[in-house]
Amino acid sequence: RSKRRGRGQITVYSREIAQEMKRATQLEQALRNAIINDAVDVHFQPIVRLSDGAPLGFEALARWVDADLGFVSPAVFVPLAEERGFIDALSETLLRKAAEAALAWPRDLFLSFNLSSAQLMDPGTTETTLAALARVGLDPHRLELEITETAVMTSADTAHRIVTDLRKAGVRISLDDFGTGQSSLGRLRDFTFDKVKIDRAFVSRITSDRASEHIVKAIIAMCQGLDLDVVAEGIEEKADADKLKFLGCGMGQGYYYGRPADSAATLRYLQDQYRDFLTIERA
Ligand code: C2E
Ligand code: MG
Ligand code: MG
Ligand code: MG
Repeated sequence: RSKRRGRGQITVYSREIAQEMKRATQLEQALRNAIINDAVDVHFQPIVRLSDGAPLGFEALARWVDADLGFVSPAVFVPLAEERGFIDALSETLLRKAAEAALAWPRDLFLSFNLSSAQLMDPGTTETTLAALARVGLDPHRLELEITETAVMTSADTAHRIVTDLRKAGVRISLDDFGTGQSSLGRLRDFTFDKVKIDRAFVSRITSDRASEHIVKAIIAMCQGLDLDVVAEGIEEKADADKLKFLGCGMGQGYYYGRPADSAATLRYLQDQYRDFLTIERA
């Protein structure tokens, strides 16, 4: 009896795996077409100064809505493009669109762009990134690249070279999702970063969980000691923002300050923000 059930399970599993593979291949084909047809879009989420809420820059976040599949999360399609070997094509489109949008913002605002781990293993990334900026005409000093601890760990030598060369060209490097990867703190000493982004997993529990609060406090203190900027990700409520300000965190990002929005809505947000700041200055 148990034998029969066992065999049945294998059939079910292999059918599920086959369906999963079929779905991934459909997704891949749809994504390849979307890239060719310029249908993958970029949205922008403000990164603000916590003391007064003023925008300092925006993180570019990939968005794709397929006619048949509907909304597909970048957490799904970015890894798929990496696995199937066309992350370069996807990323080039995204960086071009993001940089074009950033040209319309005030010049002191930065653009933060996510580099995937596959790109940090590819020695060609430095040149393709700088070439994309040059084509659009965006100053490398306005670009920040977000990289993750995992990417830095898996291909340390290549990643180190890329980070060093891009920093020489004026690009800043930001360590994304800090605290969740399998990194050693030694990495912070070996690598030269400009900024650390504290993962939402800690920030979202900062007012309810003492351990999260202590971890965030320690990360902020460490960043101050190392002369690194620090951004808290995933701020959803005023109470989170107040606590982070109290702990001395310089910058923040999250739904409380603004959700990711398309380039037109981002320009309207900037108009509103600058009107507010002009009013404050005049008062
Ligand atoms: P990430 O780089 O850590 O981006 C932050 C994610 O948190 C985004 O999800 C953003 O929409 C979300 N978020 C921001 N504020 C809040 C908040 O207050 N609450 C909550 N619950 N979430 C918030 P998204 O856009 O779904 O992106 C997911 C991940 O996909 C990103 O994580 C990044 O790793 C990757 N990704 C997105 N766009 C790109 C891209 O252009 N290139 C690459 N390589 N990866 C990308
Ligand atoms: Mg990011
Ligand atoms: Mg992040
Ligand atoms: Mg994240």
